[in-house]
Amino acid sequence: MSPADDWSGRLGYVDDGLDRRSYLRDDPAFLAAETADPAARSCLFAGEAPILRRNSPVEAFMPLVAADGLGASGERIYLGHTASGPRFAASAPATLAEGLRGRSDLMVADLRQLAFDGGVDRAALGLLGVAKSMLSWHARHRFCANCGTMTVVVCGGWKRVCPACAAEHFPRVDPVAIMLVGAGADCLLGRQARFAPGMWSCLAGFIEPGETIEAAVRREVQEEAGVAVGAVRYLGAQPWPFPSSLMIGCRAEALARDIVVDRLELEDARWFSRAEARAMLDRTHPDGLMTPPPPAIAHHLIRAFVDEA
Ligand SMILES: [Zn+2]
Repeated sequence: MSPADDWSGRLGYVDDGLDRRSYLRDDPAFLAAETADPAARSCLFAGEAPILRRNSPVEAFMPLVAADGLGASGERIYLGHTASGPRFAASAPATLAEGLRGRSDLMVADLRQLAFDGGVDRAALGLLGVAKSMLSWHARHRFCANCGTMTVVVCGGWKRVCPACAAEHFPRVDPVAIMLVGAGADCLLGRQARFAPGMWSCLAGFIEPGETIEAAVRREVQEEAGVAVGAVRYLGAQPWPFPSSLMIGCRAEALARDIVVDRLELEDARWFSRAEARAMLDRTHPDGLMTPPPPAIAHHLIRAFVDEA
C-alpha cells in the first residue's frame, strides 16, 4: 500500500464520484439525453465564485433551469454522470456575484475556503474543482492559438475546434511538482511571503517542457533552497483547480544540508526535526508554527515523512 492510499477521504478536490463517459461526449444525442434527464444538475460560477443554494444541506448543484434563471451564460459544460444523475457546469460574469450577495437563499462561496471549512460534501467539492478548471479554461481560450479565429465548443466542452484552420484545442492541466525533502531525521520546509504567519510548507514548482518529474524536483529544490537532491519517489497527486494544476507529490532525499534561500521565491527555508514537524501538523508547536491542513497534499507529504520513523 502506498502512503497516498491513506490520504483519500481527507484531500480536497478528489473523490468526485464522476463517471466522465468520455467515449460518449462526441455524440450529440447522448449529450441531449443527459441534458434532458430530470436528474440533471448544474453548478454555477459567477467569475471565480461558486454560487450555492442555502438548503439543508447546502447545495452546490441545482436544476439546469435554476442555473439559467440566475444568469448562467455561455456554454454549458458536461462534467459527466454521477450516481445522482448528470452533472454540468455553467458560468456567469463575476459581476453577477455582487447582485446575488444580498439573497438569503444563496451563498456566494470561495472554492478554496470550501475545501477547508467543509461547506459542501466531498463529492460536490471534487465536482466544483473539475467545473472550475473547465470554466477557467474556456474563459481564457476562446480564440485559436494557431490562427486567432474564434473557436467552437464541441464534445460537451471537452474540446474547442477552430472553424478556419481545423486545429483542435483541449483543456489543459499544468503539472506541478511538490516535494518533501528529507535529510536523515529532518525535513526541509519553506515559507512564501504570502503564507499566513507561522505557516511552513513543502517546496513546489511547475514542471517545465522536457523535464521528468524527478528532474523538476531536483531543479526546484536546487533553485529555491540551494540543496542538491538525490533519490526522488512519487507518493500521490492532487488536482488543484486554481486554475488547473495537478500537484504531483514526491518524497526526495537531500544530498547535503546547507541552504541558500532564493529570496525572490521564498521568504525562508529551513530544516525541521520529525518531532517539530509532527507538532506543526497537529497544531501543537510551542511557537505556533504549522503546516497546511489536510485538504492540501503538502499536509500528507509531511505526515508521510513524520510517519517514516
Ligand atoms: Zn485556427
